[in-house]
Amino acid sequence: MSTQSFRGNSSGIQYIVKVSRRARYARLKMSPEEGLTVVVPEGFDIKRVPALVESKMEWILKVQSTFAKHRSAEAGQAGVALPEVIELCGIGETWRVGYREECRESVKITELGPGELELSGAVSHHALCLASLEQWLKRRAKLRFESQLNRLASINGFKVSGISVRKQRSRWGSCSTRGNINLNLKLIFLPPLLVRYIMIHELCHTVHMNHSARYWETVALYDPDYAAHDREMKHAWRFVPAWFSGTR
Ligand SMILES: [Zn+2]
Repeated sequence: MSTQSFRGNSSGIQYIVKVSRRARYARLKMSPEEGLTVVVPEGFDIKRVPALVESKMEWILKVQSTFAKHRSAEAGQAGVALPEVIELCGIGETWRVGYREECRESVKITELGPGELELSGAVSHHALCLASLEQWLKRRAKLRFESQLNRLASINGFKVSGISVRKQRSRWGSCSTRGNINLNLKLIFLPPLLVRYIMIHELCHTVHMNHSARYWETVALYDPDYAAHDREMKHAWRFVPAWFSGTR
């Protein structure tokens, strides 16, 4: 994007100035790898850059200290740091996650391509990043789980009125008397066999709203290994990565 770039220094803060043909105004961005970059449009008076950096010093120092905190968090307790790779075992997808700091109050999430995710904006704000990752995961889970559940239902002759995906603490799924099936968002991190078991489990509740012997007979028709799968579900929380399970 840049036609030229050079280094600068202001109050002990080092930065790179990039002259961009596409930029319409000067802006600052920060990343843990490159530090501070000042992007300016062509024709921008370079002599104005130090004053610009100076005027944003409070923001720069704040972001710098969050980067430092992230680094020590990563070194200390790996689980708390935001993910660089997300393994979505339950839907057979792997996504790399990039973070780009921009002088903005919010965080935007973009699918750059297959398996490439980018968070941009106030990415030093841990909670904002988690919230947008969760929103994205929910959309992804709804999309993939809905088609899988509908396929399982139509092949096996079950009637489903609706499906929802929610992040829940203690239940993997539920089925209402009206045939609405709710699936826990955390299933997206589980082995596909267990995801399928939960779907079969809830689909069979559209026929038997209980855990009677007849209910389990029905489950066995579609998942002969249901007993082993049901036992595994009790320990399946361990498949959920720490960065995700730590929040609510
Ligand atoms: Zn049940």
